[in-house]
Amino acid sequence: MSAELYFQTITELSAQLATGTLSSVELTRAIIARTEEVDNRVKAFNSRDEADALAQAADSDTRRAAGLALGPLDGIPIGFKDMIAVANQPLTASSKILANFISPYDATVTRKLKGDAGAVLWGRLNCDEFAMGSSNENSAFGPCANPWDLTRVPGGSSGGSAAAVAAGEVIASLGSDTGGSIRQPAALCGLVGVKPTYGLVSRYGLVAYSSLLDQIGPFARTVDDAALLLGAIAGHDPLDSTSFSAPVLNYSAELAARKGPWKLGIPKEYFGEGLDPEVGAAIEAAIKFYTDRSCKIKEVSLPHTQYCLDTYYIIATAEASSNLARFDGIRYGHRSKEATNAIDIYTKSRAEGFGEEVKRRIIFGSYVLSSGYYDTYYLRAQKVRTLIRHDFLNAYEEVDALLTPTSPVPAFKIGEKSDPLAMYLLDVYTIGVNLAGLPGVSVPCGSTQTGLPIGLQLIGQSFQEANLLAIAKFYEQAHAWTTKHPIL
Ligand code: GLN
Repeated sequence: MSAELYFQTITELSAQLATGTLSSVELTRAIIARTEEVDNRVKAFNSRDEADALAQAADSDTRRAAGLALGPLDGIPIGFKDMIAVANQPLTASSKILANFISPYDATVTRKLKGDAGAVLWGRLNCDEFAMGSSNENSAFGPCANPWDLTRVPGGSSGGSAAAVAAGEVIASLGSDTGGSIRQPAALCGLVGVKPTYGLVSRYGLVAYSSLLDQIGPFARTVDDAALLLGAIAGHDPLDSTSFSAPVLNYSAELAARKGPWKLGIPKEYFGEGLDPEVGAAIEAAIKFYTDRSCKIKEVSLPHTQYCLDTYYIIATAEASSNLARFDGIRYGHRSKEATNAIDIYTKSRAEGFGEEVKRRIIFGSYVLSSGYYDTYYLRAQKVRTLIRHDFLNAYEEVDALLTPTSPVPAFKIGEKSDPLAMYLLDVYTIGVNLAGLPGVSVPCGSTQTGLPIGLQLIGQSFQEANLLAIAKFYEQAHAWTTKHPIL
């Protein structure tokens, strides 16, 4: 166990809260103090409300004093990506267009975590604007830094959600993953990150980027903590028509019960050009770890992998161009002061409010949806998406899960990748999972010689999160990565 409260796990802290050796107010104060100490360097927060967090913590302590049966998340300070609605708090999507927007309602995950589970919400966390990016550099609030090396990116788009946990500014957090935005920053910051099966977690109250691909999921220090959060946010929601009514498992109990050995598939297309040698070596070592413990390793093929990037950037931008149409200076957010007529309100408000990458994607998405190009691009991309999904389903006839790198490279320098295409290429191992609607977990698997974290990705069949978490925990238990923290 770490000496500092702010680096401990939910499991460790909830035990202390339960025995009364720690109060939620004490813990929340420690988190607030840590945030004040480091966030001027990390810049993980877009907004925070100290009085509100302390009031939530005091409520938790009151519930406990009254002898109520409380769950493990009660009184634990966590943070949300600034894409998830919390009633009466700012919701900006890291965009100037929503600079002064206050959410009138709670997302379903907010209601579940704050309301039902009693967690303490501490702040809205930095991200790429409207979740478009892989480095958190596309934020109107400025870039967020990687706590392991402040000159480097934390990954994206949920960079702040990852950096805040790694830096001890929250105990765990939520992000959203459309093409890798939970798994990739988790890998770059040395955390566990879970992208649930499409439909497992309600998207109600998540700012929509690409509705077909978006999923909310947890960032945590350990697999056990991620399982606790996942169990608390999963489940059918009548407010989200795409949410499934699969029964919610007790992931913590399932983890303990599933012991392997597993059959793991290694997709050969994921180990080619562009993979950093140190990342490749760490993944090879992990494969050896599983082999040495009686797991069957089998090379598999996902032959349409080469089309994933094109398919993703057609579907995601098409949906974004439609979803972001609502930010028009009338219904939501920023309205240009220069506007003198109705058309001006639309064009000037959007021109002033959206950042460069968001504009690029709206233009691209409008193009692939436009008449004459719809069949060539959008419709074809949807068909290729089906082929990509079938690749995974075929692989699962032979194996329980796939094992891959999460990101081809460790954290890179802020400002290093100015070419959008170079940035898009970073998503190569994560976007297939979203296109196929499958669950994916990133778990720490070592670090580079210079101390930058490396992540291992496990991809499973629909609603097999418990299996993935068990396979991840099997690895985690034999390694000491979770006890290491950045020095700030
Ligand atoms: N990097 C990808 C993109 O820019 C994924 C982002 C995400 O998952 N939100 O779209």
